[in-house]
Amino acid sequence: MKIEHEVIGRWLDVLTALGVDQRYLINRHGKCPFCGGRDRYRFDNKDGYGTFFCNHCGAGDGFKFLSKMFNWDFKKSVTEIRQIIGDCRVVVMKKTDPRRGLKAIAQKVKPINGDSDLVQYLKNRGITSCPDSLKEAELYYFEDGIKTGPFTTMVALITNNLGKGVSYHLTYTHKQHKLKCSAPKKIMTPVIPMKGAYVELYPVEEHICVAEGIETALSIHDLTGLPVISALNAQNLSALSLPSLVKKVEIWGDNDASYCGQRASYALAEQLTRKGVEVIVHIPPTVGKDWLDTLNETQDDIYKDWQKTAEPRDVSAVKELVKVFNTKMIIGEEQ
Ligand SMILES: [Zn+2]
Repeated sequence: MKIEHEVIGRWLDVLTALGVDQRYLINRHGKCPFCGGRDRYRFDNKDGYGTFFCNHCGAGDGFKFLSKMFNWDFKKSVTEIRQIIGDCRVVVMKKTDPRRGLKAIAQKVKPINGDSDLVQYLKNRGITSCPDSLKEAELYYFEDGIKTGPFTTMVALITNNLGKGVSYHLTYTHKQHKLKCSAPKKIMTPVIPMKGAYVELYPVEEHICVAEGIETALSIHDLTGLPVISALNAQNLSALSLPSLVKKVEIWGDNDASYCGQRASYALAEQLTRKGVEVIVHIPPTVGKDWLDTLNETQDDIYKDWQKTAEPRDVSAVKELVKVFNTKMIIGEEQ
């Protein structure tokens, strides 16, 4: 049998025998052996192929692992594996049921009341909205496998367009600010694929606003009074799948230097337009900023006056404001 077939299921022992530290062979978030990231790596060994995943480095199989760790090409890896494979067992990784982790959180969530640290956390970010859809829980955070906390955590339910629960998004906070750690935001392992799912911050209606981040979406609710949903990241924004009752969508995208946020916004715009949904895309005028930054930093008199006087859903005022931002974008003026 060829080594690449023989090694399937044996990677755990193979990598151990080749000198890989055990702590990098665990299916739990921890330190990445390749980039040094403290909590974004896991060895998930999917179907026994020795797979790993790091939020920064990406994914790979056992051969990729060896090439990244020892700089071995495929031929060298095969030679090395051949010498030790006789003693290596087939080990079936236990599949952890994501429901367990999600249930543990579900049992701890409670509504956010007015004097919660999370209300203050949002205020510190420049946000006044705190919808009932967001919950809080006292949760532990694991850094390098060490349990810390508990910390007051903002818990957002991620659902699909049928309203079915997919996973939880967590934002760990400490003393009313984002927890200083390597991954203060986290999506729990989902029970069904994440693609197209979102956080419905306010109940979806015919006309909604969409943003990447939860905080950005909330700032857009502060601005427009419209129902907002968060796609959580650019990748998911471009693939967003909305309920059929939605007829008009305003996409409040990020202005990324890499064009990642803009690309995702326009990809979604294209996808929705094809389905006959009316779409408006708003991109903030300054590179590297999202709408939350923009609204917090703007010194526009129009915005300040508008904040003081406008009623939520005062559509004409919002239109006026957006016109100002869009004009600035076109002429490239800095805020
Ligand atoms: Zn990494």
